[in-house]
Amino acid sequence: MALGAQINTFNTPGVKENCHVLKEVDDAQKIRRSVIDCFEKAVLPCLSDEERRKNLHFVIVGGGPTGVEFAAELHDFFPDDLVKIYRTVKDLLKITIIQSGDHIQVSSIPHVLVVWSTGVGTRPVMRDFMEQIGQSKRHILATDEWLRVKGCEAVYAIGDCATIDQHKIMEDISSIFEAADKDNSGTLTVEEFQEVVDDILTRYPQVKLYLKSKHLHDVTDLLKDPEGNDRQEVDIEWFKLALSHVDSQTKSLPATAQVAAQQDAYLASCFNCLAHCQEDPEGPRRFRGSGRHPFLPFQYKHFGQFAPLGGEQAAADCLETGFPRAIALNGFGFNLV
Ligand SMILES: Cc1cc2nc3c(=O)[nH]c(=O)nc-3n(C[C@H](O)[C@H](O)[C@H](O)COP(=O)(O)OP(=O)(O)OC[C@H]3O[C@@H](n4cnc5c(N)ncnc54)[C@H](O)[C@@H]3O)c2cc1C
Repeated sequence: MALGAQINTFNTPGVKENCHVLKEVDDAQKIRRSVIDCFEKAVLPCLSDEERRKNLHFVIVGGGPTGVEFAAELHDFFPDDLVKIYRTVKDLLKITIIQSGDHIQVSSIPHVLVVWSTGVGTRPVMRDFMEQIGQSKRHILATDEWLRVKGCEAVYAIGDCATIDQHKIMEDISSIFEAADKDNSGTLTVEEFQEVVDDILTRYPQVKLYLKSKHLHDVTDLLKDPEGNDRQEVDIEWFKLALSHVDSQTKSLPATAQVAAQQDAYLASCFNCLAHCQEDPEGPRRFRGSGRHPFLPFQYKHFGQFAPLGGEQAAADCLETGFPRAIALNGFGFNLV
């Protein structure tokens, strides 16, 4: 399943009737036509200045990447394309972005065009499917880390229509301990723990994020005592305590094309080597049960984000690429921020 999502109005009254949305190509074309209509009206000779201003006041609800990017595009559309035809109103264009707050009263702002851009929600067809498979209480379809739909594992779901429900390490903690405790002594040595570390890091990516957030270099650092000294052995209670905060780092992936495209490539490669991986599994060991998972779980690699801000400026987030966290691009140069 790769059905995408639809605009989320949060059931706000009047949005469907009065606002533009920005999702499909058709929506963008409608907005473009409406913007030009607004300029056409604004230059009618019979209008007062106040009415002209109202016609050229564009309101965007939602200050996420799409809302900001749209504002920037609109800002550039005027000097790049429209100014030659509508020169007389060149100083009247106004763009407002409204962000957050439950009680936005767009109607109290003089305007003629509102673009609603507050994120995406589940399509009705997906809702029906979720009800049929026992996921009716969720907001979005859940898959496991191999992108199999929970409760219906012969079906895979990728992109905006689904989210990965990352398995919690604390749900498996006793099984992990048992699997690592090879001599059944009831305690784990660092060496025993090291034997399962790779499988833990692959199966529970939140462990790596937790280590990073705590500036720890090695997963065995988690087993040290509060003073930072190595412990020879740990029992199950200490093991649980050491890993008890790891799941707080579980993250949902954003609804972006970057995620969808990587999931698409991942699934294609899994399907292509299905027979081979069933014979010779490449995934981590199953802590509950025996053997290994046929495939490595899906792992997202973030290549950064880039949002045009208008006027040849852009904001970029390049955290994972080795560049600084954020840079502001200006023309062909860039400034660190
Ligand atoms: C304005 C805007 C700007 C964006 N900018 C960025 C960006 O800069 N970078 C980025 O990474 N992401 C961006 N995104 C997000 C990105 O577009 C989505 O994350 C991505 O398209 C999701 O891919 P998908 O395949 O899951 O869904 P979609 O691309 O939405 O594809 C789903 C397809 O399924 C079809 N479909 C729906 N229902 C049915 C049905 N019942 N039967 C058959 N077909 C059906 C739809 O027509 C559609 O073609 C943006 C989104 C928007 C709206």
